[in-house]
Amino acid sequence: MGIDAASWVRTFAALIEENAEQLTALDAAIGDADHGDNMRRGMTAAVAALEESGASDPAQVCKQTAMVLIRSIGGASGPLYGTFFLRCASALESGSDTAELAKALRAGLDGVVARGKAEPGDKTMVDALTPAVDALDTALAEGGSAAEAFDAAVRAAEQGRDATTALLARKGRASYLGERSVGHQDPGATSAALLIRAAREALR
Ligand code: ADP
Ligand code: MG
Repeated sequence: MGIDAASWVRTFAALIEENAEQLTALDAAIGDADHGDNMRRGMTAAVAALEESGASDPAQVCKQTAMVLIRSIGGASGPLYGTFFLRCASALESGSDTAELAKALRAGLDGVVARGKAEPGDKTMVDALTPAVDALDTALAEGGSAAEAFDAAVRAAEQGRDATTALLARKGRASYLGERSVGHQDPGATSAALLIRAAREALR
């Protein structure tokens, strides 16, 4: 089993579209009320680029998506999601079966951390991505199927997302609020949980 990367990007775009208002509302509470708009603009452009290029090779799809996101999203999330997809692209050059896919997601997460310097607990997208990638690796190491492992990853991402509510923001715009950031769910962790859900839906 592996991933249909074009379907991953399309499904992520559809989930962003569906949740754009919520993402912006979350960002209104602890940021500048643009996360839904940023992600919608980026993912709409990514889908348009896919349609134009007709790319289907996973590495190519991820690389193209990365470039579009970096170019079309003004906010912090553009370079971060861009780096995620760029690192995924490199890792997927050798193949896109389940094991390689897990490595690619780990590489993507490492890229986000290298770029944004956020640690788990800083109230960012890293708080959804880290438990997801860990759960994926654990489930696969225990002999779980790709579907089981991705189910576990989605649950972990959503738990990580929910747990950001209680955290104090230490990175990004929300960190300017200090204690006032506590009690609000992080927008980037919310979109990152959608990214993992989209990956589960793109397993083939
Ligand atoms: P901006 O903050 O520039 O308006 P967005 O609103 O699109 O950008 O994205 C905000 C989200 O980006 C935050 O909710 C957080 O999850 C994520 N983020 C911000 N800074 C970092 C960072 N240094 N590392 C990881 N994620 C970050
Ligand atoms: Mg914002």
